Amino acid sequence: MTPEEIEAAVQAGMPQTIEDLEGLAAIPSVAFPGHPEAPVHEAAAFTERLLRAAGLPYVRQIPIEGSFPAVFAEAPAPPGAPTVLLYAHYDVQPAGDPALWKTPPFEPTRVDGVLYGRGTADDKSGVITHVAALRTFQGRFPVGVKVIIEGQEEYAGERLQHFIEADPELVRADAMVIADVGNPYIGDPALTTSLRGMAAFTVEVRTLAEAVHSGAFGGAAPDALAALMRMLTAMHDEAGDVCVPGLTRGTFSGQGCTEEELRATAGVLDGVSLVGTGSVADRIWASYAITVTGLDVPDVHGAINAVQAVARARVTIRIPPSGDAKTALQDVTDFLRKIAPWGVQVSFSDFVTGAGFRAGAGGRARGAINRAMAHAFGQAPREVGQGGSIPLVASLSRLFPEAEILLYGAEDDHASIHAPNERVVLDELRRVITAEAIFLSEYAQG
Ligand SMILES: [Zn+2]
Repeated sequence: MTPEEIEAAVQAGMPQTIEDLEGLAAIPSVAFPGHPEAPVHEAAAFTERLLRAAGLPYVRQIPIEGSFPAVFAEAPAPPGAPTVLLYAHYDVQPAGDPALWKTPPFEPTRVDGVLYGRGTADDKSGVITHVAALRTFQGRFPVGVKVIIEGQEEYAGERLQHFIEADPELVRADAMVIADVGNPYIGDPALTTSLRGMAAFTVEVRTLAEAVHSGAFGGAAPDALAALMRMLTAMHDEAGDVCVPGLTRGTFSGQGCTEEELRATAGVLDGVSLVGTGSVADRIWASYAITVTGLDVPDVHGAINAVQAVARARVTIRIPPSGDAKTALQDVTDFLRKIAPWGVQVSFSDFVTGAGFRAGAGGRARGAINRAMAHAFGQAPREVGQGGSIPLVASLSRLFPEAEILLYGAEDDHASIHAPNERVVLDELRRVITAEAIFLSEYAQG
């Protein structure tokens, strides 16, 4: 098929594609504890049917230990053709407060070419991208195809990661497409070539056998909470840049958003400044970030007049792809131990680390997706980063160092993923599907 024929076929298939997305997004497949499990299984079965209908000869659900099934599909490669793995996930974030939604979260609603509903973007748009792109070929795929659609990415993605690490052959491919990101702006194509890794730990400070009266002892007794606050604030300088020795700042070679755009998307209040220095892309894609994500301290309500004996904090570090998570964890915990005041007792626990990702210079797959996006969007993609982590991508790139990994999708920066009023722009979805279908055809041709 020529790119023009593929584009026309995708366009002609859009009514079916939208109906499929509406059907899938109507299923509240929230794979978090405390939510009903039946809809998650229903979404798996729905996904399985979609992949069969897209012409894949082998489709099955794969049990994942301690998790919901992944849906796996396969079509053998024509002689001499490479194989492509297509990834997305069918589970979604909880809807949160329904009062914040303008339309019911699990009743997908179309308004002026935009489909609203939980999961319409993250990541049921990814599932539908693969289904619709594959359907274009009517069962005669130009490349070998493997599809894996995860069932618990939003809550416990490490379970699929462990599964794949135990049996990598199942997903072995020459190119891997992760359709769970998007373009910064509608119609402005981008490939995500850099992801930050992460590390986290809990720090505990102890000063006294137990809390003591702040009138009788305050002023002389060492307060664990005061010590912890000094330690936590010492990790940033006046400008808000991380100042822990060893955590050096990076630069991002592509172009990111402006400070004004970041202020708007993050909802920064009037008169409040951003933190850190350098370009926004350098700060959120190529440098370390440290955030205190939890504190164990007495609640304001019911606080008593006492000097605290113990205080705890949860600390998260975002790691640029050039950095190493374990080294960063060591650097930060060493620093906190070193600057702890008054000889307080400091201990660390509950460590988590996950690697980041940086795409290689690019080979045959990268050339094919560049041409495909240029056709579908009218311009070649630019490179963007993402400040968040997708641990599965780090695993795939470690297990298959030769494979080219491509990240793209229909979740633009204003898709409100994980937030109320999540949405996908249907024209954007069409362009992403077109790009993926042309990519499969171009990649086969070399
Ligand atoms: Zn996602």
